[in-house]
Amino acid sequence: MISADLFRQYLKDNLKPWARDAGGYKEILTRCPYCPDSKDPNKGHMYISVPFDEKLSFFNCAKCNTHGVLTPTKLIEWGITDVNFMSDLSSYNKKVSNLPQNKMLYKEGMKFNVNHSFITDDKLSRYKLKYLNDRLGANLTLDDCKQLKIILNLSDLFKVNSLKPTRDETIMSQLDYNFMGFLSIDNAFVNLRNLEIQKNIYQGINRRYINYDLFGKYDNSQRFYTMPANIDLTRPVTLHIAEGSFDILSIYLNLPNNTGNDIYTSISGKGYKGIIRYFISQKKLPWLNIHIYPDNDITRKEIWDVVESFKVFNFPISIHRNLSSGQKDFGVDPKHIQEVIEKIN
Ligand SMILES: [Zn+2]
Repeated sequence: MISADLFRQYLKDNLKPWARDAGGYKEILTRCPYCPDSKDPNKGHMYISVPFDEKLSFFNCAKCNTHGVLTPTKLIEWGITDVNFMSDLSSYNKKVSNLPQNKMLYKEGMKFNVNHSFITDDKLSRYKLKYLNDRLGANLTLDDCKQLKIILNLSDLFKVNSLKPTRDETIMSQLDYNFMGFLSIDNAFVNLRNLEIQKNIYQGINRRYINYDLFGKYDNSQRFYTMPANIDLTRPVTLHIAEGSFDILSIYLNLPNNTGNDIYTSISGKGYKGIIRYFISQKKLPWLNIHIYPDNDITRKEIWDVVESFKVFNFPISIHRNLSSGQKDFGVDPKHIQEVIEKIN
């Protein structure tokens, strides 16, 4: 059994770079392990609730909106490895997660099998495919989209997997018609991009990006898009990381940086550090060669902070910038990419 006082004390002593009491001792506040958090190193946005009354402990970043249930796996990802504390937390979670009010929340380790191998072949799908190909100067087919976890129509996914819509009919049909997206690494979210095909899109969804939660999974820390890959763990794995899904697709399709043993991932609204930590601790990749393709509004100082965090691993790291005039990232066709690479280590 875990006592609230012990829990608080333990996190305050062990979370890096600092953690303190908040919310009248009901929460612990710390720096977010997923996003770059505040510029001011003494400010943080990650709140972790102290478990009591058979509730689970939840974390939530008020900045990047990453949230989930605190588990030993999460602690390992965040760099904490105390076996006693983890086993206490694990038995507590096991006990309370069987309670009906907690059942839905405790899905962290769950693998969602989602069939993404059907796309309706009609005018609308062809239009969305053309948008994608024009934007990236690519020649992708509907079959490529299926393979790459690109979701041209939300409704195809719903039909094939018998999913239940979570919004009302009009909104679902507008999301289906106007948006295309990318299935997240845990298959539980679709990062949707608004192509604004119809006029009068309902205001609540008339944003450039919407992250659609397919299963009501509370833990959204794996909502980023990673291209499916078969990798050989006995060799170094080259990890290519960009901000958005269109960026990483263009990098995969248009740049000659593929080594034959590669993972291509976006960070989708989170941070580089969190993603790298995820691949090291959760995907257990021991031997990485890291390539970062930041948007141009990310400063050198911010990238340097990422580089410094992984210094102990001695991974080779390269920073790629698109210096083509007027471009802010890599999510464009090759004519608008002028790649400059800086090798570190
Ligand atoms: Zn955050």
